[in-house]
Amino acid sequence: MDRLVRDLRREGIRLGFQDLRICAPRRSEHIRFFREWIDQRFHGEMSYLSRPDSVARRDDLRGTLEDVRSVVVVTQNYFQPDSPGVPGDPARGVVARYARGEDYHELLKGRLQVLLRWLDLEAGKRRLAGKVRGLAYVDTGPILERELGRLAGLGWFGKNTMLIHPKRGSYFFLGVLLLDLPLQADPTFGSDHCGTCRACLDACPTGALLGKDQNGAPVMDARRCISYLTIELKGPIPRGLRPGIGNRIFGCDICQEVCPWNGKFAETSSEAGFRSCPDTDGPGLVQLMGLSDDEFGSRFSSSPIKRAKRRGFLRNVAVALGNWGSRDAVPALARALDDPEPLVRGHAAWALGQILNRVGIPGDGGFEVAEALLFRLNVEDDPWVEGELEAGLKGE
Ligand code: SF4
Ligand code: SF4
Repeated sequence: MDRLVRDLRREGIRLGFQDLRICAPRRSEHIRFFREWIDQRFHGEMSYLSRPDSVARRDDLRGTLEDVRSVVVVTQNYFQPDSPGVPGDPARGVVARYARGEDYHELLKGRLQVLLRWLDLEAGKRRLAGKVRGLAYVDTGPILERELGRLAGLGWFGKNTMLIHPKRGSYFFLGVLLLDLPLQADPTFGSDHCGTCRACLDACPTGALLGKDQNGAPVMDARRCISYLTIELKGPIPRGLRPGIGNRIFGCDICQEVCPWNGKFAETSSEAGFRSCPDTDGPGLVQLMGLSDDEFGSRFSSSPIKRAKRRGFLRNVAVALGNWGSRDAVPALARALDDPEPLVRGHAAWALGQILNRVGIPGDGGFEVAEALLFRLNVEDDPWVEGELEAGLKGE
């Protein structure tokens, strides 16, 4: 069996994973913290996290694979460097690194399925099992992947809630294979190397990171996290949190960017599918604001960005344009006041209000902004958008 584990590791690396480690399928130690986190409503609108059946399955993997005997955990590096000028140029949007290439779910899941077939074949050839059954997960089911990663010895929970690998940092996806074949587990990662560092806590622009609790578990109020606000949240972004979003239009890497372990170890992923493309590598915000349904669909059909849908994505772009606050954004935002989606119209109104606040009515472009807001207010029939238009006219 030891030889099978060694060959499995080799096969995983050959397939393109950076690490392959194994843990036993124990009941979760982290679930108590997870339940408290849910009780405090830190998960916001992500109701799939709080469903009792999904919490129970996170606690006990046997709810997912009844006869689970071992868990394989793999890592896949996705790091992409920023282009020159990004993220410092407020006229360009920043997309989280994991979302700059193709959707990772398909790629990783496909690779895990290949690994499972290899294991099934090899275990049969070596007369270790008749048939190996397994299930592959890549953010696709109620699995506490980071806890399994820690149990398998891959790293520790950083104060930024990421799993940090002592030789790779945290820019990697985790994939999990639940197996009905018992395999020798690797030693658990027992130490914590954050020490007195608090760079991520201090850098988070929206105050989402709350430090570690009395049991050492890192706490995040997801409702304040830019990743949640720009991807998971389907409705309006709370007004008070919009300025902190800056030019992050899909996800946020700030608490990873400042982490010294990434500063030391992050290396550009060699995976062709994860490479940035012009649409995700610091795209111009003004152009994005004009995306039609068809254009959004054709640009992002194989990208994680499709998850936000056009209306959510343009909501984020409008917020970033408001944070830029430039006169150059006015024509695109004024056109967006007529968008069929109230969500887009309302955030465009907020963005114009930010520009108005900056230039003042008599200032450069101020009349044009006020005129656009007033004109739309006269025909607007959505009460929430009306409120945003009125606030925008006051420069709020
Ligand atoms: S992803 Fe961004 S907003 Fe979320 S916790 Fe990290 S720094 Fe804060
Ligand atoms: S930035 Fe510092 S505190 Fe935050 S996860 Fe990295 S090492 Fe830990």
